[in-house]
Amino acid sequence: MATFGNLSDRLSETFKNLRKKGSLSASDVDGTVREIRRALLDADVALDVVKEFTGKVRERALSDEVNKALNPAQQVVQIVNDELVAILGGQQRRLEFAKNPPTVIMLAGLQGAGKTTLAGKLAKWLAKDGHTPLLVAADLQRPNAVTQLTVVAEQAGVAIYAPEPGNGVGDPVRVAKDSIAYAKTKQFDTVIVDTAGRLGVDAELMKQASNIRKAIDPDEVLFVIDAMIGQDAVKTAQAFQEGVDFTGVVLSKLDGDARGGAALSVASITGRPIIFASTGEGLDDFEPFHPDRMASRILD
Ligand code: GDP
Repeated sequence: MATFGNLSDRLSETFKNLRKKGSLSASDVDGTVREIRRALLDADVALDVVKEFTGKVRERALSDEVNKALNPAQQVVQIVNDELVAILGGQQRRLEFAKNPPTVIMLAGLQGAGKTTLAGKLAKWLAKDGHTPLLVAADLQRPNAVTQLTVVAEQAGVAIYAPEPGNGVGDPVRVAKDSIAYAKTKQFDTVIVDTAGRLGVDAELMKQASNIRKAIDPDEVLFVIDAMIGQDAVKTAQAFQEGVDFTGVVLSKLDGDARGGAALSVASITGRPIIFASTGEGLDDFEPFHPDRMASRILD
């Protein structure tokens, strides 16, 4: 995965040096933990997350678990793997479906994060799995947003609920609310509501997103975050957590060459699981997120 290429190389270099040693002294462990710490910080992983992570790795690496292992270096690598999986959320968390359809999924995030594209990806993925998704254009802020979602719906081969293109003066809360009633009468089993986002966190738009959330009581609120966002990730995620209390995270643009660590910190900082990963502009560049697979790719 391009995003974590550098981090991956750095860690693999650290482990290569570690494997050359038979038994491990406390200073070997400290040296290794220091290198891991630097690699994570250079990859933009948030400081609090790095501190907690390296603290746990160090504690376990100095314990009997490693002392008594047949291959101490390998045991340290295993510990780093386990702790990385833990940061990424531990177990895979699947999308939650409502007992009584339609399942309502609301998307939130900054403008350009990849929400509209994700709406199409998610709809296509659901449709392939036998679901009948309806895309809802509740982003009436950006003049082009309704048209863009219409194009995405066409590409995904799914239905859309939207005000007339260009008619950007409607009330997004109303549109979102009406779309649920429409989905019920037309028997769509999932409703994916795209919402407006600005370049920075914006109080008015956050209020609007929060009002949409209250009006439609979604089963999932997915916070879409661009892996390229860098150190602002934590602040942005916290603002959205406060504003819309999202239930899950989607990491987008993991195909880029950004360092990506900031976005990786989001699950750990907010306590919300990463549910999907987006890996390109195409509607098929998308997959459910598996913490253990991501950890293996980073540590490969
Ligand atoms: P929105 O403003 O949050 O709705 O973001 P968009 O869905 O419009 O995406 C913004 C830009 O990012 C578009 O040019 C998309 O094609 C692009 N994009 C979205 N997801 C990905 C991804 O996973 N990888 C890459 N490389 N580009 C993406």
